[in-house]
This record gives sequence, structure tokens and C-alpha cells, in this order.
Amino acid sequence: MTGAERRRLYARRRLTGAAVLLVALVALVATSMRGRPGVPPQEMQVQPAMPAAIAPEAPAMAASEAPMPQALDVWTIPGRYEGEVISQRVRFFPEKLLCLTFDDGPDATVTPQVLETLAEHDARATFFVLGRQARAYPDLLKAIIDGGHAIGHHSYSHADRYSAAEAADEMERTCALIEEAGGHPPTLFRPPYGILDSPLTGLAREHGHATIMWTISSADSRRIGAEVIAHNVIYTPNPGDIVLMHDGPGHAATAAALPEILSKLSASGFRFITLPELLQAWDRWLAEQPVA
Ligand SMILES: [Zn+2]
Repeated sequence: MTGAERRRLYARRRLTGAAVLLVALVALVATSMRGRPGVPPQEMQVQPAMPAAIAPEAPAMAASEAPMPQALDVWTIPGRYEGEVISQRVRFFPEKLLCLTFDDGPDATVTPQVLETLAEHDARATFFVLGRQARAYPDLLKAIIDGGHAIGHHSYSHADRYSAAEAADEMERTCALIEEAGGHPPTLFRPPYGILDSPLTGLAREHGHATIMWTISSADSRRIGAEVIAHNVIYTPNPGDIVLMHDGPGHAATAAALPEILSKLSASGFRFITLPELLQAWDRWLAEQPVA
């Protein structure tokens, strides 16, 4: 898909979203005039004031008539990022897009909660999974993909040090599990503990995977409460930021923080997309800038 086609697709999707809202509003007005229990009037006033792209889901009767959303490409990264380390956002990037990233999962408790909250807010995210966890929970790996999210690899065992042979083994096993579940080999890698100077990172780069660091940390590796995690993310993100979070075992507070993060930032106009989509948006924007 070319940049122009993708822009048209986005524009079409915004139009479809607006149409769905309009249908929903007409239906709601009709329902309340017939005296059935309807939605309180203040909600009917709030909805049209919000941009369609960040509006909450329309009622079921309208949603069921809406066309199925076209699946986005959550694997392809632009050539300029292949084998590169990404640790900063593109400066002056204007689109209010954010990438939430979840490391160390999937986990039987935390990941389903995270997936449910993301779906409720029509948000997409990127999961840097451990091979060990993916092998234990293949259904969750599949659920992540089915939810329209992106997956990258994050080692098999999350050790802090690898020999060259161990690194090759860790990467091969983890990538095989992802490819088996998603039908595509991963193109994104996040190094355990953010260690760039390691055989694992070297190998991922040799394979053309983009090594993705983060530009905002939720600081949820420390065992802090949901309120603090939410505050860390909500506090002044910039368009194109990449947010570090965790859905591995024990990260219940992160799952608990997510609804507020999505509500508040959606209300201020941010959309939550996968990393390949962000890299594609960066790539398009950079290509449009005059050469210095
Ligand atoms: Zn990790």
C-alpha cells in the first residue's frame, strides 16, 4: 500500500466513523421519542462534539451495520528503520499518535485485562513478548494478534547476559513462536533491560529488525501503584512518543492504570497505534519534509 492509498484509507475510515455516529444519534433520538429507556441526554450532546477518530464505540445496533474494519499491516517496517535502533521520536512530528508497548508477557492474568481495555477504547498497542511466556500461553499470543496489535520479540528467557550461541538460540525460538501464531516473522525487537551492547541486539539488527527503545517510561518495572503509573504516562506526552509498559507476571497495577491512560489521552486527541504504523507515519512525514 502506498502512502497516498493509506492516507485515503484513513480518511475513509474517519468518514465511516462519522457516519456511524450520525446513524447512532438518529437511532438514539428515535428510541427516546418512543419512550424506551435510552441514553441520558447529556451523552447525546457529548458524542457529536468529539472527533470521530477518538469517539467511544457507537451503540451495538449501529456498530453491527458498520463494515468490518480493514486489517492494518502490523508487520512491515519502512526500509529506513530496518536494522536500526530507535530511541527517540522524530522531532516536530505533528500527528497526535502514541505507541503503548507492553513487555515481558503474555501473562494469564494481566494480558487479557490489557487486551480488553484496549479493545474497549479501540486502541492498538505493541507487545514485546518473551518466548518463555509465549510458549506457555499460545492462545494469548493469538489473542494479541487477533486484536489487531503488533508483536515484537524480547528474548526467550529475559536473562541479562547472553553468549553468542545463547543469543541465537533465544532469538530463533522466540521468533519461531511468533511466526507460528501470526503467520509472519517478527520485525521488531526490544532488548531485555534495554541493553543495546549485547549479542542479542547485534543479531536482531543483522536480521533487519528494528530495535525499539522508548521515549516515555511508565516506570512500572518498579512496583508502584496504578495512579502513579497513569500519571507517568498521561503527563505531557508528545506526538509520536513510544511508551514503555509491562504486561508480564505481577503487573496488575499497569492493567489497572490503563483505562485512565486511554480515556484521558483520547480526550486530548491522541490515537493509539502499533509501532509499524507509527514508523510508517514517521516515514511518510519525513519523506514530505524539504531536504535541509
Ligand atoms: Zn523486559
